[in-house]
Amino acid sequence: MPTKHLLKIEDLHHSFENEEVLKGISFALDKGETKVIVGPSGTGKSTILNNIIRLIPPKKGKIYLEDQEITTAQKINEIRQQIGFVFQDFGLFNHLTAKGNVMVGLTKVKKMDKKEAEELALLELERVGLKEYAASYPSQLSGGQKQRVGIARALAMQPKLILFDEPTSALDPELTGEVLKVMRNLAEEGMTMLVVTHEMGFARSVADELIFMEAGNIVEQGDPEKLFTNPDHQRTKEFLFQLT
Ligand code: ADP
Ligand code: MG
Repeated sequence: MPTKHLLKIEDLHHSFENEEVLKGISFALDKGETKVIVGPSGTGKSTILNNIIRLIPPKKGKIYLEDQEITTAQKINEIRQQIGFVFQDFGLFNHLTAKGNVMVGLTKVKKMDKKEAEELALLELERVGLKEYAASYPSQLSGGQKQRVGIARALAMQPKLILFDEPTSALDPELTGEVLKVMRNLAEEGMTMLVVTHEMGFARSVADELIFMEAGNIVEQGDPEKLFTNPDHQRTKEFLFQLT
């Protein structure tokens, strides 16, 4: 079924062994939109993101990227090239410099020539404020800088959208701001983003739409200001209130 959305998730279910962790998740993401998912730990947020790029194959439901159903599409590597992913633990190669980490997908996956990849890597590092750190290894960078390299790496692949799974959860509080600022700039530039986070200030001020999930279900989704000030569900109120 064709769709006008950039990403559409329809009735997604997942279970691990006998435990159902996604119980029918549906939402869509339009081009240029930032959608933020919040909810308690163990609710299935990461499972959704992992289902989208099939690090974990979905059990039931449908996922569309533009007109293409990608739930079980054969060409998973081609699909993954179109969807950036920023991990909580950065996922950088320690034996490569910041520049090397940004280049690796370009040369190995996109088969770009080295010179061109290098130029693009430097541009993307500049975009996240790390041009001066191109030759630094991850061990020489702060957590916030490492995560900005992770974002530059995702951007370099020129994805249609970027998924962020708790990108600041592993960071000391004083380092989260620099990462959130980069993400805020990307949202303002019109990047399409699906962000799982516990940063409620970011969710409230940057999300075009907020999704509150609990125990494998979407409890409520909509305008963040409405969810924060006048939600339809008591659970939304309790959850957002305890964190703000
Ligand atoms: P969240 O990201 O919201 O914290 P997850 O999607 O990581 O939640 O996990 C949802 C549920 O699935 C949790 O109960 C978790 O323990 C369970 N789970 C996650 N990954 C696995 C796995 N690989 N095997 C078994 N259970 C898992
Ligand atoms: Mg998670």
